[in-house]
Amino acid sequence: MKALLVGEYREGKLLDSTYELLGFAERLGVEASLFLVGSSTQLPACSGTLYLADVAVCDEYNPDLHKHLIVAAAEQAKADCVVFLHSSYGWDLAPRVALALQAGQISEVVAIVDGGFEVGCCNAKMRRLVQPATARTVLTIQAGAFTAAMPAGTPQVVPQAVAATNAQFEFVGYEPAEAKDVDLTRAEVIVSAGRGVGKKDNVPVIAAMAKALGGELGASRPVVDAGWVDHSHQVGTTGQSVAPKLYVACGISGAIQHMAGMKKSEFIVAINKDKDAPINEVADVLIVADVMQFVPAFTARLAK
Ligand SMILES: Cc1cc2nc3c(=O)[nH]c(=O)nc-3n(C[C@H](O)[C@H](O)[C@H](O)COP(=O)(O)OP(=O)(O)OC[C@H]3O[C@@H](n4cnc5c(N)ncnc54)[C@H](O)[C@@H]3O)c2cc1C
Repeated sequence: MKALLVGEYREGKLLDSTYELLGFAERLGVEASLFLVGSSTQLPACSGTLYLADVAVCDEYNPDLHKHLIVAAAEQAKADCVVFLHSSYGWDLAPRVALALQAGQISEVVAIVDGGFEVGCCNAKMRRLVQPATARTVLTIQAGAFTAAMPAGTPQVVPQAVAATNAQFEFVGYEPAEAKDVDLTRAEVIVSAGRGVGKKDNVPVIAAMAKALGGELGASRPVVDAGWVDHSHQVGTTGQSVAPKLYVACGISGAIQHMAGMKKSEFIVAINKDKDAPINEVADVLIVADVMQFVPAFTARLAK
């Protein structure tokens, strides 16, 4: 089986997520080549073929043109599957490419099981196993779900010719997101509240522990969606990606979308009443306790 992996390049830089695609291909055990709209001055480290389109000509975002280029590269590579990151770039392009290739699309793959692909369902509370039913497949993989490969070497570059398209978009640049209340990416300590804290009135207890440790308050998405904490504190794929020295997850189960945003933390402590909670996969220490009993007692000890 052959896979074409669509790497990402943003604001003049190759994104590290490109290596997650290579990690996915290794895990799948396929022969992989890369496609990138990027620059020959900044090539990914890998030993296979790289279909390279020049970003100076193609822009970093131009879905119509990039779709044409990816489809052409997929034909050249005789790819059975085309794989994107489930990023804003990937989720925009994947269905366009799937339609052009008449391929089935499987989105937000989080694991490979028996040659099939596991995807989240029921708001990521459950997983279902999906098998492609078309000759070719387009896949998007969840950020953080697959360990990045660390390949070496220089790719064999196949430059991609740019054909005229009737592009309906013009890329004019990026705009910085609205300034946030708090920049969690700079925090050395983050104490995050999950649904396990029970109710909005309990959030100050978690915030007090964050303060006592000289850190910031973080939160999982349900806590933000419920309006208990502002979105600027959300950690995860649709929040901020953080890597503090200490991350304390209070009543957080460890869904892939949360872990993708915090698993690079240096030291992770999870407080959960369920000893089998998935957060345990990344936690250095798991404290099996009721969060509303443990946290106030611990904060009081810190104060002493
Ligand atoms: C497209 C998409 C994007 C998403 N983006 C994000 C994101 O950016 N960030 C994010 O966090 N989520 C995100 N999610 C949601 C994610 O899938 C999970 O639903 C969410 O992370 C679960 O939050 P949680 O762990 O707080 O809640 P739950 O999964 O409900 O877990 C609660 C945990 O608390 C424990 N618990 C309960 N009571 C107590 C107690 N008294 N003491 C101790 N432990 C207790 C339970 O054992 C459980 O493990 C996204 C989902 C989708 C579909």
